[in-house]
Amino acid sequence: MPLDSFNRQINYLRVSITDHCNLRCVYCMPIRDLHFAPREELLTAAESETGVSAAAGVGYSKVRITGGEPTLRSDVVDIVRRIAGIDGIDDVAMTTNAILLPRWAEELRRAGLNRVNIHVDTLDPERIRRLMRFASVDEVWAGIEAAQNAGFDPIKINAVVVRDYNEGDVVELARLTLERDWHVRFIELMPLGGGECARLALSQYVPNTETRDRIAAVLGDPTPLPNVNPSDESRNYRLPGARGVIGFISPVSEPYCGTCNRMRLTADGKLHLCLLNDDEVDLKQTLRNGGGIESVQGILAEAVRRKPTGHRLDDGISTEDRGMFQIGG
Ligand code: SAM
Ligand code: SF4
Repeated sequence: MPLDSFNRQINYLRVSITDHCNLRCVYCMPIRDLHFAPREELLTAAESETGVSAAAGVGYSKVRITGGEPTLRSDVVDIVRRIAGIDGIDDVAMTTNAILLPRWAEELRRAGLNRVNIHVDTLDPERIRRLMRFASVDEVWAGIEAAQNAGFDPIKINAVVVRDYNEGDVVELARLTLERDWHVRFIELMPLGGGECARLALSQYVPNTETRDRIAAVLGDPTPLPNVNPSDESRNYRLPGARGVIGFISPVSEPYCGTCNRMRLTADGKLHLCLLNDDEVDLKQTLRNGGGIESVQGILAEAVRRKPTGHRLDDGISTEDRGMFQIGG
């Protein structure tokens, strides 16, 4: 199992497979001046598979497919099938905005995808347009139903909380857990990419303590749940009488860097060492030079060695070179 220089066990690889998206959430992707990686720079399904096989060979066991919007890749099912079939990988999940799940959910499930996390910031038809721009509640809801019908369980919902956009909508999102065994998690805004999205994240940030109080004021005090997995970034609770779980992911107000177990592989083949830092190590050249699994494992080991201790948002430092859509969250 790869241990970094701070004795953290790095066994979770987040694999971004595209930087394209069918939405333009205000804190993630600007509307104009977007630059996407040229197609030939994206890792192919076979290259992603080799990267993950190499990682599995040194102890990684968990993979999350992300993007951009991963379901935009026409070979998304093939990618999942290849990764789910790798010895040592025992959990393959995906983060998605769900819009295309009616098309893909069954096939993804059959290909070996274990879980989906669905991103929706509000259930209000107008505010969703403002925040996630090209999304509609009906489309996301159809995606959630497709995920359920395909047997994904539990359904996890991720909502980013943005002041003056959706901070009041957290109550209706949390209410979903009363009747359903879903997990609804609230994520604090992070500034990435240095441009308009980062500026918005800084000015519209809502601490999760405020979100928790807002939910408790209407739905009652939530009871904390034991933390089953020490690397789970979410602090979980159950509302009175609820079937499901609410969770708070607080990278800004309560950083969890000390238990970080992640490495990120970008769609263009870079190992991104910490979400909120620009340091990267190139993996694509090694994959394309035909260096074989051992060379890839050498690069993975270097990336783990160079992984920073923690983020430095308090010092005003974050990722400048890439937006969230180019890393994958
Ligand atoms: N398109 C997919 C989706 O939206 O779930 C996968 C990629 S998206 C970049 C992954 C996650 O990052 C989503 O849950 C999204 O809400 C979150 N995210 C994007 N920008 C963020 C930001 N600036 N701060 C906090 N979370 C962010
Ligand atoms: Fe697309 Fe996900 Fe970014 Fe929204 S958060 S723009 S859905 S990549």
